Amino acid sequence: MPEKRIVLKNCGVIDPDDISSHLDKDGFKALEKVRKKMTAQEVIEEVIGSGLRGRGGAGFPCGLKWELAKKTGSDQKFIICNADEGEVGAFKDRYILEKDPFTLIEGIAIASYALGARQAYIYLRQEYHYLLDRIGNAITQAAEHGFLDLLKIDIIEGAGAYICGEESALMESVEGKRGEPRYRPPFPPKRGLFGKPTIINNVETLMNIPQIILNGGDWFNGIGKKGNSGTKVFSVSGDIESPGVYELILGSELRELVVDLARGNEIQAVQVGGASGKLIPGNMLKTPLAYETALGSGAVTVFDQSRDIVGMVYQTLRFLAEESCGKCTPCRDGTRVMVETLERIANGEGVAEDIDVLEALSEMMRLSSLCGLGQSAPVPVLDSLKYFGSEYETRISQSIFLRSLRGIRG
Ligand code: SF4
Repeated sequence: MPEKRIVLKNCGVIDPDDISSHLDKDGFKALEKVRKKMTAQEVIEEVIGSGLRGRGGAGFPCGLKWELAKKTGSDQKFIICNADEGEVGAFKDRYILEKDPFTLIEGIAIASYALGARQAYIYLRQEYHYLLDRIGNAITQAAEHGFLDLLKIDIIEGAGAYICGEESALMESVEGKRGEPRYRPPFPPKRGLFGKPTIINNVETLMNIPQIILNGGDWFNGIGKKGNSGTKVFSVSGDIESPGVYELILGSELRELVVDLARGNEIQAVQVGGASGKLIPGNMLKTPLAYETALGSGAVTVFDQSRDIVGMVYQTLRFLAEESCGKCTPCRDGTRVMVETLERIANGEGVAEDIDVLEALSEMMRLSSLCGLGQSAPVPVLDSLKYFGSEYETRISQSIFLRSLRGIRG
């Protein structure tokens, strides 16, 4: 199936430094439509009707989130665009920001209109510093053309912490504090940035808004399947011939992405959703790319038959342990013990109990970690045990055998 471009419609088509080329492609027409013909509530209902769910990973219905904030009745609300794309293997937001910053600004302006917000922030990943001028220039041009009205959009640069992609840690960072997740509830639409109702939407989520307004929520809801309407943008890398950014209708098969488009061969496994994403074995490429099966942030990494899965999972957990903020014990200590256990197995020093330790730790972390990092860090461990368990067992039994030989000789 070919790609379907809604989010990436103007990427590579317009000049990202010149608003006139964007205007030639119906740029800011959706914003004009909401301001002239729609009430704020009608905008929210159109987005609810579209079925659009957050594209950052959690998948919360976008319109319902907006409505929750709107219903607070607070006279001060904030919009935050999460552009802190720190997930391993993720680069689709960078592509969007590079190629089409204007549609994002239009999406932010429509969200601000719907909520009655006058201040918005784009929280930009530190490594995307080179995009600062481009995005700033796009904001200036939009303001000069009168598209922002009373809305102020500021860009805040992250400081390089993976955890600041988590929405409550991100808000702490915007407030100038150490980026650590907050205890919830309350959730941001009720009490977010500086204690005010706040909507945090991912870059890709906001990119969908102008098209939903122009074509209608029903049009968008008719693309894909119930609960999975619209498209998803994926960044694909690893053992493939054509790495890059692709946009597919939600519910498409994983095979269409990694074989037909990205041209992977002899695939052993695919990790969908970044470091703590699901690990899908090569014989399950019919898996649909949907919220309930495999999606996450849209970062997809392909591993061919030459890759060491146990070693890969060990390196993944090393990364997650390094990025754990340390605020809660299950994640702080759980990731560390997982790393020690996986390192032992990967180095041929595993013991029979190691599998039980990994499973018990996984359950404990999943149930009791404070935020998504700790809750989902066990996913690659459990998936690799499920689909590649024989690799763990072989390594452990080999190390037990070698130790017994050394014992006989010694
Ligand atoms: Fe920090 Fe990990 Fe706890 Fe999240 S789960 S708050 S990253 S220690």
